[in-house]
Amino acid sequence: MELLICTSNSHKIEEIQSYLGPKFSSYKSFLDLNNFNPPLENSLTFQGNALIKATAGYKASGLISLADDSGLEVLALNNRPGVFSARYAGEKATDSANNTKLLSELKDQNVKAARFVSALAIVGPQKTLVVTGTVYGTILNEPRGIHGFGYDPLFYIPELGKTMAELSLEEKNKISHRAKALEKLVLELSGFISL
Ligand code: IMP
Repeated sequence: MELLICTSNSHKIEEIQSYLGPKFSSYKSFLDLNNFNPPLENSLTFQGNALIKATAGYKASGLISLADDSGLEVLALNNRPGVFSARYAGEKATDSANNTKLLSELKDQNVKAARFVSALAIVGPQKTLVVTGTVYGTILNEPRGIHGFGYDPLFYIPELGKTMAELSLEEKNKISHRAKALEKLVLELSGFISL
């Protein structure tokens, strides 16, 4: 069975595809759809935006469609940037601009506790399912590491003594917010697909 991964973010595609491996026979993403305009992500929750993307993907392709909506929540910033993580420093902001803005907003804060949240929505002909995963850490004063994307170089995981960007794809896929959500999704997958 083929799965549509409802994103154009190559890092998310790689993480999800590598986690799910042979559970699906092949994978497509928004990058493979012709004349497709990604939907407006206008929900104020990760779950709502994941459902918007998965529903749009299913309507456009007819394939079982999986979407991730994710972001960083920082305690001292009242959980910002949250659902605005990708556009924190403006529409189409680069990862580097978003990280610079985060560092400047946190420069006078002592407590830098943060969490990554991933909501995954899967939509098929008969059923819709939404699951969430979270990983906790703190924000460093400067970036560390070369892997991953987004806020990974600033997100430090005390138990590992490393930032998310210092983990290989395989290591990130054991502990990340997306991996935790995928773990829950996989538990439900056989029931979902047989419907
Ligand atoms: P989305 O594509 O609308 O879900 O936006 C996700 C944004 O949240 C990304 O552009 C990143 O800024 C941030 N983000 C989500 N997941 C991760 C991750 O695994 N590492 C680093 N940043 C992430």
